[in-house]
Amino acid sequence: MSLLLRGGLIVTQDPQRRLLAGDVFVEGGRITAIGSVDREGDEVIDCAGSAVLPGFINLHHHVANTLLRGVADDRPLEEMLPKASAIDAKLTRRDVQIGALLGCVEMVRSGTTSFHDLFYWEDEVARAVRESGMRGFLSWVTLDDAFTTQHGSPLKNAEVFVAKQKDDPLVTPSLGVQGVYVASEETYARAREIGDRHDVRLHTHLSETRAEVEGHRNKTGLRPVEWLEKIGFLTDRVTAAHCVWVTMNEVRILARHGVSVAHCPVSNMKLASGGVAPVPEMMREGVLVGLGTDSPLSNNGMDVFADMKVAALLHKATRWDPRVMSAQTVLDLATIHAARALHADREIGSIEVGKRADLAVVSLKGVHTTPFYPETVISRLVYSCRGSDVRATIVDGQILMADGVVRTVDEADVVARAQETAHELFEA
Ligand SMILES: [Zn+2]
Repeated sequence: MSLLLRGGLIVTQDPQRRLLAGDVFVEGGRITAIGSVDREGDEVIDCAGSAVLPGFINLHHHVANTLLRGVADDRPLEEMLPKASAIDAKLTRRDVQIGALLGCVEMVRSGTTSFHDLFYWEDEVARAVRESGMRGFLSWVTLDDAFTTQHGSPLKNAEVFVAKQKDDPLVTPSLGVQGVYVASEETYARAREIGDRHDVRLHTHLSETRAEVEGHRNKTGLRPVEWLEKIGFLTDRVTAAHCVWVTMNEVRILARHGVSVAHCPVSNMKLASGGVAPVPEMMREGVLVGLGTDSPLSNNGMDVFADMKVAALLHKATRWDPRVMSAQTVLDLATIHAARALHADREIGSIEVGKRADLAVVSLKGVHTTPFYPETVISRLVYSCRGSDVRATIVDGQILMADGVVRTVDEADVVARAQETAHELFEA
C-alpha cells in the first residue's frame, strides 16, 4: 500500500527547517521520498494550496476526560481536582473507552497524530488508539493507595499494563505518577524501579501551582524538583508536565538530568496557576520542551493550533518581547521537540525519508489565511490556522481522515455514544 501526497508545501521540520514545494511518497507506513516524485501511489491526496506538516504531538493529555469537558470551569485546580476525582470514582471501563475515542476523533480532525496520556485504565485508552488509528504514548498513572480511585493498587495496575502493551507499533506504554501532593517517596521510587525494569518512560505532573510547591516545601523542606532529584527520580526517561513554579536552580537540575517538560499554557492560564513557565530559560539551559493541551477539564479543547498561538502570545505578552517565542519555535514545540522529549524523534516529529508517515495536510486557502505566500507558511500555521483547516491526517501511512471524513471510526456514532455516556454519568 502506497500513498502519494501530491503538490503541497512541505514543512519538513528537519534539522534545517526546510520548506519544499513538492510531493511526499509513503510506502509501508514510512516516508520513502520527498520532493519531485515521479510515481503514482495506490492512493493520492492532492495537496495543492495546502501545507503538509508532521502531525502534532500533544505532550501532555488526559484524553478520556472529554466526558468531563466543562464540568469544573472557572475554578482553581484545588477545587477542580476533588470534583474530577468524585466523577472519576464513578467512571466505568466503558466510559473511559468512549471518552478516549471521542478525544481521538477530535485530535484526528485537528491534525494531531500522537499524544502522551496520563490516566488509569490506559488499556481502554489503548483500545481507542487502535480503533482510531492514532499513535499513543500512554502512561498508567500511579499514586499512593490512600488517594486513589483505581480498583486495586495503582503500581501493580501500571506494571501489568506496561508488561502487556509492549511491542505494539502504535501504543508505547509508560508509567505515570500523579504528583508530589499524592505520591510518597516510596511510590516515586517504585515507579522508577518498574520503569527501569521494563525499559519504559515516566510521566508526572510537576510544580504546577504555587500551593503545590509551598505545601511540599513545608512538608519536606525542599521544592518539588529539588526533592525529586534528592530521591533519585529524575532521569532522561522522565517527562514532567507544567513546571510553572520552578527556580533557575530547578531549571538547571531538570537540564542536568535530561528531564523533558510538557508546557501547557492554556491549562495554566485557565486554572489561573499564576506565573508563567520559564520556557525561554528552559530552552536556553538545554531542557527539551514540548507542548501539551492537558485535560479537557482545564483546556476544554485539544486543537494544537490554538495552543501554539496561546504559547507564543503568553511569552511575548509577559516578557514585553515579541521575539521571545517565535512562530517557528512553537511549531518546534508541537512537533520535533515533543518527539525528542519522548525519545521518539528517530521515528516521528519531522518529514524526512525513513521516518514513519505521521502527517497533517492543512488548507491555506481559507479566508482567514489569505493572502498566502510560501515564505509566510509558519506564521499562517501558528497565528491564523485552526484545527478545522486540517484536510487530511495520516498515521503510520494510514489515512485516518481525508476531505473532512474520518475513515477509521463512525464519527457520528462516537459522538452519540459519548453524549449518551456523559448524560448517564451526570444523571446518576
Ligand atoms: Zn495534567
